[in-house]
Amino acid sequence: MRGTVLRLARDHKFLHSRHLVRMRSETMTPDETEKLAARLADRLAPGDVVLVSGELGSGKTTFVRGAARALGVRGPVTSPTFTIGQVYAGNGVEVAHLDLYRLESLAGEEDPELLDDYLTPARVGFVEWPGSGGASFDRVVARVRLEHLGGDRRVVTVE
Ligand code: ADP
Ligand code: MG
Repeated sequence: MRGTVLRLARDHKFLHSRHLVRMRSETMTPDETEKLAARLADRLAPGDVVLVSGELGSGKTTFVRGAARALGVRGPVTSPTFTIGQVYAGNGVEVAHLDLYRLESLAGEEDPELLDDYLTPARVGFVEWPGSGGASFDRVVARVRLEHLGGDRRVVTVE
């Protein structure tokens, strides 16, 4: 019994799953997508990981930018180009931003702990293209999906 409680208390996903949002919204501008992301960011705690999926140009980086701003990140938030990730200083918390688009495989010669170097329990993490390279993630508290609806319209689902 005591063991069960301890195990649940250490299960980060369990602890945080209750106060995260589930939403489906349409946005008409990048700014609206950023604002939506800020609403999610308000509920995030260190160690939380958010997966962000969607086609190229659907607004994944825009979403991460909005969330990072809400967490106090001031500098540029763009998809990392020469590395799989970067770390920004926020307001009392660091934000890790990964883009696995170019990641072919985590197997074989790649270091399977590569992702853990970025996604530490002390940081809030965001991962674009989370399905690449057969990657898997601990502490996922939200899955965001962005889809084109034509022009500047996007549908953003968080669950
Ligand atoms: P991704 O990271 O998914 O490739 P980006 O966020 O880098 O996408 O780019 C999305 C592009 O679409 C940006 O140029 C952004 O300004 C534009 N855009 C237009 N309308 C929206 C919207 N409603 N939400 C997000 N981005 C939008
Ligand atoms: Mg991007």
